[in-house]
Amino acid sequence: MAHARTRKQSSRKSAKAPQYVYFFANGKAEGSSAMRPLLGGKGSELAEMTNLGVPVPPGFTITTEAWAAYTSGGKKHPAGLWGQVVANLARLEAAAGRRLGDPDQPLLVSVRSGARASMPGMMDTVLNLGLNDKTVLGLARQTRNERFAWDCYRRFITIFGDVVLGIERRAFDALLDAAKARTGAKTDADVPADALKGLVTEGKRLVQEKARQAFPQDPTEQLRLAINAVFDSWWAKKAVDYRRINRLSDDWGTAVTVMAMVFGNLGDTSGTGVCFSRDPSTGEKRFFGEFLVNAQGEDVVAGIRTPEPVDGLKRRMPKVYSRLVAIKDRLERHYRDMQDIEFTVQEGRLFILQTRSGKRTAAAAVRTAVEMVKEKLINRKTALLRVEPASLNQLLHPMVDPAAKVTSIAKGLPAAPGAASGKVVFDSERAVEWAHKGEKVILVRAETSPEDVAGMHAAEGVLTSRGGLTSHAAVVARGMGKCCVVGAGDVIVDEEKRAFQAGRTLVREGQVITLNGSTGEVMVGTVPLIEPAWSNELKQLLHWADTTATTKVRANADTPKQAREAREKGARGIGLVRTEHMFFGEERIPIVREMIMARDEQARQKAVDRLLPFQREDFVGIFEAMAGLPVTIRLLDPPLHEFLPKYKDVIEDYTRLDALGINPQRHHELGELKARLEVLIEANPMLGHRGCRLGITFPEIYDMQVRAIMEAACAVARKIGVGKVEPEIMIPLTGTVAEMKLTREMTVAVAEHVVDEMGIKVPYSVGTMIEVPRAALVAGRIAEFAEFFSFGTNDLTQMTFGYSRDDIGKFLPFYLDKKLLAADPFAVLDQEGVGELVRIGIERGRKTNPKLKVGICGEHGGEPSSVEFCHQVGMTYVSCSPFMVPIARLAAAQAQLKEPRRGSGGKRHG
Ligand code: PEP
Ligand code: MG
Repeated sequence: MAHARTRKQSSRKSAKAPQYVYFFANGKAEGSSAMRPLLGGKGSELAEMTNLGVPVPPGFTITTEAWAAYTSGGKKHPAGLWGQVVANLARLEAAAGRRLGDPDQPLLVSVRSGARASMPGMMDTVLNLGLNDKTVLGLARQTRNERFAWDCYRRFITIFGDVVLGIERRAFDALLDAAKARTGAKTDADVPADALKGLVTEGKRLVQEKARQAFPQDPTEQLRLAINAVFDSWWAKKAVDYRRINRLSDDWGTAVTVMAMVFGNLGDTSGTGVCFSRDPSTGEKRFFGEFLVNAQGEDVVAGIRTPEPVDGLKRRMPKVYSRLVAIKDRLERHYRDMQDIEFTVQEGRLFILQTRSGKRTAAAAVRTAVEMVKEKLINRKTALLRVEPASLNQLLHPMVDPAAKVTSIAKGLPAAPGAASGKVVFDSERAVEWAHKGEKVILVRAETSPEDVAGMHAAEGVLTSRGGLTSHAAVVARGMGKCCVVGAGDVIVDEEKRAFQAGRTLVREGQVITLNGSTGEVMVGTVPLIEPAWSNELKQLLHWADTTATTKVRANADTPKQAREAREKGARGIGLVRTEHMFFGEERIPIVREMIMARDEQARQKAVDRLLPFQREDFVGIFEAMAGLPVTIRLLDPPLHEFLPKYKDVIEDYTRLDALGINPQRHHELGELKARLEVLIEANPMLGHRGCRLGITFPEIYDMQVRAIMEAACAVARKIGVGKVEPEIMIPLTGTVAEMKLTREMTVAVAEHVVDEMGIKVPYSVGTMIEVPRAALVAGRIAEFAEFFSFGTNDLTQMTFGYSRDDIGKFLPFYLDKKLLAADPFAVLDQEGVGELVRIGIERGRKTNPKLKVGICGEHGGEPSSVEFCHQVGMTYVSCSPFMVPIARLAAAQAQLKEPRRGSGGKRHG
């Protein structure tokens, strides 16, 4: 039955084909802007402009539906398509007053691609279609310009040969070059008519030879072939790559617009150009653009002649200029956005060939959005949605000057944006030493470990050959707002030789390199950089963002300096203080090692007691910097062996002393260190003795940390007021209710003790990271003992996928290339899998405790699509690296505008 019904339906469909072709001419069009998916950007806007009365040459657009039918039908036109093309061609001929193939009054057309999203230059266009051995003569008579007509024919054979017949353009260019040499012509425009005629003959011969067919003389056949070629150009490699990079769907397809040609190359009263209604690089409200007198569009693109600024048109063709200004104002008002307009002047008559919203830099996007609100062109909501959050990166870091010509020697993952140049160093000590001397350095390591933190701090940028976007180097560099490239597999680091090899290039210590942390590129030498500055417009836009968003934005910050920086960037609290980073200070590491090496509890307690003042001092600084805002402090997380020297180095030293039989004291120490490391080193440290497992087995450590936090909180509260200090003590890596219950009891016991001791009642809360999948599943029970959850999506991603955070670089590029993964899951939250655990965790947690505050502190907290997800699942806040705070603020506002929600699930202030 079902089968019969389908057949019946399809036979009814085939009785009447859908409308595949939409006509536009003389102020009336069948399409409009609203039909962008069907008519593509170009086709729909030509229709819209026609309806607005803007002078657009007549034409018609073949729909993306026709493309879909053609493509799925094995590159055959669906029934009805060609008939509609022919009928609309007749309408076009009537509107233009000329006919395709007419030897006296020939109509020439352009055949253009146009997808719903702009893909500039990625697909094909055929110009001057309709020329053949007869119509070229008609065109010469009609325009009284023989040279012009033969030039058009030559250009047509070239473009048709290239786009439709697949003959390399180079072969045609070689013919042109030879003709120029023969005639002594400096530019294409100097080639005389006779030589152009000769080029036409040679071009046709080339077609015969390469395509084994005569150059088609029938203009209708030319048209059919050109339409198919433009359809097919959807699958050109560059177009497919462009879509992949910009995450555009392969299924959209392209529309095809066939439009009467107008000529900008008919002499000095003709010309062609491109203009913007505002400056696309700064956003300044000024008419901006370029034009060329006596030229066709492709001359502007090809850069054969240098165009003049559009202002020059005022002098040359004042009437055309004022008409153009009026039209660009009209179009900008109509679309309420900055327009990028293509125009042609044919013998003093202006035609608009295309308008679209102009591509712009982030600075221009921010400025135009804010100014257009002030001009009452758009509202705040539109302004907030107009700026791509990730693009703000461009404004917040020194960037490689986009105008600079650079050659990269290697490419890794873009871990922390911006750019940095400096001398290569291969270890942390040297980085510090050279930086002290005032040198700019780039730390290059196979991978970094906590021991490298000082070196990273001293360096301008960090390059590693291993590791993914949440590897140690990436996380720490982002926290520091430092340019960083990780996992550059082509970089082979030889620490002994103090050099690295990248392909054929050998870079030695002391040589200067530049990193582009926004693209992952590594370059030799210095490259021009441009400095960022926060404009008033950016401040304004982000202020609107804050008043719109319901999901708050906090920062991950480990030091008072970072906390202040985060606050300056608009963070509304700290979502994660990683206390382990505080253990790495120069004076502290010996004490930490003493703590780890302690033989008994008493000795350990002694070391721990010495650490307390350091910790307290850090917390005082952070609480002061964040006065009035919440601060989440996580108790120690990483395994202890990370604080000891590398096993390999210890063994080396130990064996050397052993062989030499010298320095017995040091030999003994190294022996002990070696023995301790052998106990501590784990096969799988990420799944080993870390997080709360550590705090539970060595309670002195957590007790000391809680004491330091509470003593600092009480001291600061005494100074600036009780309500202004809001510590949130966070347990890492909780997986079971028993762990949560126990660590909470431990925490509360110490905290209450301190409050009593200090005699000042500072409110505090206790919560947990949710970063072990099991914790998300038993969140309902865990919430009995937690006032807040913070999703640690770095570990949660690692443990849900089973991908090591540090080793994903080995297979990620392949997975992305083969589309086995849509994106790096450590950069963009996997909403389907990891996100499901987040959803479950929140739902179950809030069922137990409806007031549960929920946030995220994994690296995803600043990534726009992940922020949107966090908003949708009802998080109270997102927390990210300080430099990402502005991006997250805008992303949170956009999330609210796209899916409004009332307040947040937990306490409102987040
Ligand atoms: C996490 O796992 O997401 C997290 C924030 O903790 P860390 O990166 O320190 O493991
Ligand atoms: Mg973690």
